[in-house]
Amino acid sequence: MKEYLEKVYRKGKDDFYQEVEQKLINGEKEFIVTANPEILTMGDKDKEFDKILMDKNTVIIPDGIGVIKGAEMFGIHLPERITGVELTTELIRLCDKYHKSMYLFGATKEVIGKMKILIEQKYSGINLLGSQNGYVEDKNAVMEDIKIKKPDVVLVALGVPRQEKLIYEHLQDFEKGIFVGVGGSFDVISGSKKRAPKIFIKLNLEWLYRIAFSPARWKRFYEGNIKYIFKLKKEAKKEKGRK
Ligand code: UDP
Repeated sequence: MKEYLEKVYRKGKDDFYQEVEQKLINGEKEFIVTANPEILTMGDKDKEFDKILMDKNTVIIPDGIGVIKGAEMFGIHLPERITGVELTTELIRLCDKYHKSMYLFGATKEVIGKMKILIEQKYSGINLLGSQNGYVEDKNAVMEDIKIKKPDVVLVALGVPRQEKLIYEHLQDFEKGIFVGVGGSFDVISGSKKRAPKIFIKLNLEWLYRIAFSPARWKRFYEGNIKYIFKLKKEAKKEKGRK
């Protein structure tokens, strides 16, 4: 776990957005993973996911408060959360500003339809090269379509870890593009699903709001968070013993 936390982006969101802006302007390639404890725990269990997280070209940002708290246990200071929803919003804004191209892949037909309308009506500077719902059978075929179109930004919303694995598998075939697995961001941005009330966000309790109202997440919460804390404590103790 410690090796992932050591890799997490250390500066705040303004710096991060500026760096992304520069990469977008320069037409560089970048793969961003928005991390929460669940994702880091997954890396610990799944070799393929571990490889994705440890790849020197993968940029990990702290989406969840648990990542910031976890890093603290190893003396690493991360100034603030950089969430997937906010990053998605920022990338849409930047693409609009610089007239860059984009491809959206994932979420339901209804949600992706709403995203397309939103972009056409509010962000007319964006060249939307494609939008595809995430329930198509052949997801690799969509990636092939993306390769032909060569967008500047590719947002994939298929849930963790499917979205990261799919991006990673195809990444070497791209010369440029900012790639992000954005989870439920399209649901939130299209207005189909609400983010937690502001007070929860402010108190860093968005995660609690999300799981409390979604019993399907309870098991995931246990796997990804309770186990995460135990694992971190164990690793931190071992490290102390070594010093
Ligand atoms: N999704 C999809 N195809 C699938 C499964 C999920 O497009 O086969 C979408 C789903 O509609 C949602 C997103 O993936 O928009 C995952 O959202 P969730 O909040 O579960 O994200 P996570 O917590 O896994 O990041």
